[in-house]
Amino acid sequence: MTETAEKALPDGWELVVGLEVHVELATVTKLFCGCANEFTSDPNTNVCPVCVGLPGSLPVINAAAVEFAMRLGRALGCEVRPSVMARKNYFYPDMAKDYQTTQYDQPTSIDGELMLGDGAVVGIERAHIEEDAGKTTHIGGGGRINDAEYSLVDYNRAGVPLVEVVSRPDIRTIDHAKAYVSELRDILLATEVSDAKMEEGSMRVDANVSVRPVGSDELRTRCEIKNINSIRSLGRAIEYEALRHIDLYGSGEAPRQETRHWDEAGGRSTPGRSKEDADDYRYFQEPDLVPLRPSADVVAAIDATLPVLPAARRARFAARCTVSAATIATVVERGQDNLALAAIEAGADADKVLTRIENDLAIDDWSLVSVEGLAALISMETAGELTATQTKQVLAQLASQGGDPKAIATELGFEAMESDELDVLVDQLVADNPAEWDRFTSGDDGDRKKMQGFFTGRIMAATRGQADGRAVAEILGRKARG
Ligand code: ZN
Ligand code: MN
Repeated sequence: MTETAEKALPDGWELVVGLEVHVELATVTKLFCGCANEFTSDPNTNVCPVCVGLPGSLPVINAAAVEFAMRLGRALGCEVRPSVMARKNYFYPDMAKDYQTTQYDQPTSIDGELMLGDGAVVGIERAHIEEDAGKTTHIGGGGRINDAEYSLVDYNRAGVPLVEVVSRPDIRTIDHAKAYVSELRDILLATEVSDAKMEEGSMRVDANVSVRPVGSDELRTRCEIKNINSIRSLGRAIEYEALRHIDLYGSGEAPRQETRHWDEAGGRSTPGRSKEDADDYRYFQEPDLVPLRPSADVVAAIDATLPVLPAARRARFAARCTVSAATIATVVERGQDNLALAAIEAGADADKVLTRIENDLAIDDWSLVSVEGLAALISMETAGELTATQTKQVLAQLASQGGDPKAIATELGFEAMESDELDVLVDQLVADNPAEWDRFTSGDDGDRKKMQGFFTGRIMAATRGQADGRAVAEILGRKARG
């Protein structure tokens, strides 16, 4: 499912992971004011009395943010329900109000699920609306607050609308954790709720990690790993943390419940604050905002505009082909599934269409490749009119200039070799290279392989790559058997 092999824990231990993903919504303005919601602006240019929390300022909730949050909730199969905004009190310089406006016991979305590419299902506990904090940068002392000479704070991000998606602790493998984030990102892109760029922080993943003996269903002490900024880091961070817990248990100790920071360069997690309980935040209902009560009609209207989601798009191929789930996932992820599906419906071989697209159409702009062109090209390859190499070349030209694959093939001089022409060529090569032929017919497996390469290479050179590799192998085999 992913590029790396599954990393196994030591025998007898099982991984228990739940993920909390903060997603910045792609609204034009912030959650409670009219300031621009932009990533690249100069520091402290997108600010106003509301988002820096000046006394007497009052929030007005952004209807588009609420709609985006509900759309994401429905895409995750959640119940979208009446919700209430709350104040989460804490003091930190990046939160000028000294509290974060969020949702607590009455979130917008609850009880959903997310299906991964291999059919595994991860429960979604809740998806709530909240505002983002500003950003502090510590100058000097290695960037850590304790040793810094001074700190800078940028409030552009303060008040940017977020949805926090909280999974249940259903994830048992590192590959599933990575697949969950990748699937959630695909859903965010498909619903256009967020641009979901981990590298710009518009999608931020925290991992709650614990371990337990295989066969047990207890939930042991977990640590929350923050500061993970790529899917690759997520895998490394979970593995490191799980092994750290197993080590502690092995030496008769136990992990403490705490927040930890992932240090990507050092490949380890370091302790942060010991985890607060909900009591520490003294949550209470936000008195300046009314509860949100979406009617059934509003939810039905959202459902009606949801796009076909990645899981359903992948499922459309399942019954029609035998390629791997990873190939289908790649084609869907790149948004090339409609092209593939239409080419298959136009009569092209499904497996060939999908593998050609995966391997030879990994480009940003494939708009010049028409359904008819792709279907015709794949059919030519299937019929043996073009070799694999020739098909790739025609496809490349189709993608860069458009056109008709038959005309392109003719223009490139790709006339199919008649197999009796090949026969004559092989006879000639055998006559010219008797020692090599002898090694091919009576040598050991290594010799045979080497000489097969030798003859194939000569034939390809003689035909300028136009011979079909499978036909060559077939002729060589037939002649060797006499
Ligand atoms: Zn503002
Ligand atoms: Mn949060």
